Formats: sequence, C-alpha cells, structure tokens
Amino acid sequence: SHDILEVKHLKKYFNVGKHDLLKAVDDVSFSIKEGETLGLVGESGCGKTTCGRTVVGMYRATEGEVYYKGQNVHKLKGKEKKAFNKEVQIIFQDPYASLDPRMTVAEIIGEGIEIHDLAKTKQEKDEKIAHLLELVGLNKEHANRFIHEFSGGQRQRIGIARALAVEPKFIMCDEPISALDVSIQAQIANMLIKFQQEMKLTYLFIAHDLAMVKHISDRIAVMYLGSIVELAESEVLYRHPFHPYTEALMSAIPIADPKIEDSRQRIMLEGDVPSPINTPPGCKFQGRCRKATDLCRCEAPKLTEVEQGHFVACHLYQKQVE
Ligand code: SF4
Repeated sequence: SHDILEVKHLKKYFNVGKHDLLKAVDDVSFSIKEGETLGLVGESGCGKTTCGRTVVGMYRATEGEVYYKGQNVHKLKGKEKKAFNKEVQIIFQDPYASLDPRMTVAEIIGEGIEIHDLAKTKQEKDEKIAHLLELVGLNKEHANRFIHEFSGGQRQRIGIARALAVEPKFIMCDEPISALDVSIQAQIANMLIKFQQEMKLTYLFIAHDLAMVKHISDRIAVMYLGSIVELAESEVLYRHPFHPYTEALMSAIPIADPKIEDSRQRIMLEGDVPSPINTPPGCKFQGRCRKATDLCRCEAPKLTEVEQGHFVACHLYQKQVE
C-alpha cells in the first residue's frame, strides 16, 4: 500500500522571550502507509505532540512540508480543506478538556455529522449517534447526558465516537490512553485496533512510553528533543534497539511474563531531559549518553538507514554504513 502521509523536513520553532528559540520539532521526516499505525514515542517535552499537531494542520509549520494524499496540508483551501478536516481526525489525551462541557453527548457526536452533511434527516442523525455509542461500548441512553457525568474511560469512548462520526481515514491519536487507569488502557487500545481493521483507518499514535505503543504500532519512531533518533518496525525495535536512548527506554519496560527472570540491566537515564531552548551543537543526547565521544559533542548525527527500514541517528552506527 502507498503512503497516505508524508512529512518532509518539518520544523516547528517557537520564540521564547526576546532572544530564545525553542526548536520543538527540528527537521523531522517520516511517512505513514495507508492502514498503518506509526507510534511516535518520547518523554514529555520531546516535541511529539507539537509534531502531531503540526502534521494535522493545527499548527503552522516553521519550515518543511506535510503531504496528505499528495496535497500540502498547510496550503489547503475551500473544498479540499473541508475534505481534509473530515478525513483527518484527532483523539486527544484529555477528553474532558477537549469536549465542550455544555454540550450533550449527542451534540458532541452530532456536530461533525451536521458540518459534513452525513445525515439527511434528524432521525438518520440520531440513529447514527446511537450506532456510534454502541460501537464504543456505550448506549443511546447516554446521548442526552453531559461529559461530567462520565468516567475517564467513558469520556475517551465518547471522544472516539466523535472522531469516528465523520467517517475519517486518518486519526492522530494524541496520547489517548496515557491518562487512563491501567485496567482501562488495554480496553481502549484494543478498541482502537479493532476499529482500525474494520474501518481501514491509519493512525499516528503518540505516547510517552514504549510499552503503550507496543501492541498497536506497526512501526515506531522514537523522538528526543525535537528529532527522531530511531525509527523501525515495532518488532525490530523491541528485539534490537540501536540508539542508546531507545535502549534506555526499553530497559524500563517490565517483562510481562513473571516466569521469565528479568536479568536485563536497567539503564538509568541521568538527569532530566535538557531544555530544548538553544541546544548545544552535536548530538542532543550527549549529556545523558554513556557512550558519548568527542565526535558526539561537535557533530550532530544524521538519521541513517542502518539496515532495511531501520533508521538510527547515532555516530556509533553511522560508521558501520560507511
Ligand atoms: Fe550517544 Fe554519541 Fe550516539 Fe549521541 S551520537 S547517542 S552521544 S553515542
């Protein structure tokens, strides 16, 4: 299948105070195939959410381009813009903050149906809403209630129903399960996987740890201080991470089977994520990397294909290819 989304050298900078520049997204490139899920993972402040929001056109890019079905997302107008707004939906981390508390569930879900003319009559709209509620494990009795009457998991179900109401093709899932109880996380993730298969959806799935994207992602991109440091198929990344940062993230995931003794060494990351404002030259991970050399302090490593489909930005691996 072909690429539905292409991100090319995307940059999103913010001015901070008079003189400082925050490079939230600093030359990021990737593509997503139709029907695929790309997991985008990194600690808070790494730029993953800014990246996701720029990709779907919520933010204007500082530089670089995003193409959805071959069209430049930041230059869409009129009919094309409307079609994009229908096909590309967002599921937010905090449904409570993203859904209007004064609207009933039926109004929240029905809004997109109206805007995009997806029901001819009020009855058809109500039937659609009832069907969507059932799809996400709620029922039509919930339609006239307000968001505050629901639990976190139920609110996220409503957020998902709202996104699905307009028959989208691509969904940017912005940490949709991070804020939920662990017991609910798997339910919501499994629901998203099921809908993806049934409705042929494509996902950009943002999360702050690797455990959360493991089952849902076909490929995973690891982000650090505005850059992608590693990108590979999920299984490859879990079996054989190359980048020292991915290794450290990976060693923090507990092994699920208690019968297997966890003999892996925990790699502790020293210090917090450094500020993305006015980053020093060289590899952005140098201050926390146990393998840093002089080269790492003066030259930034480029994202390089080290084996087929497996990209890494680290000097340790660039030498191998040359
Ligand atoms: Fe560590 Fe150097 Fe690789 Fe950066 S380039 S991750 S500092 S070894």
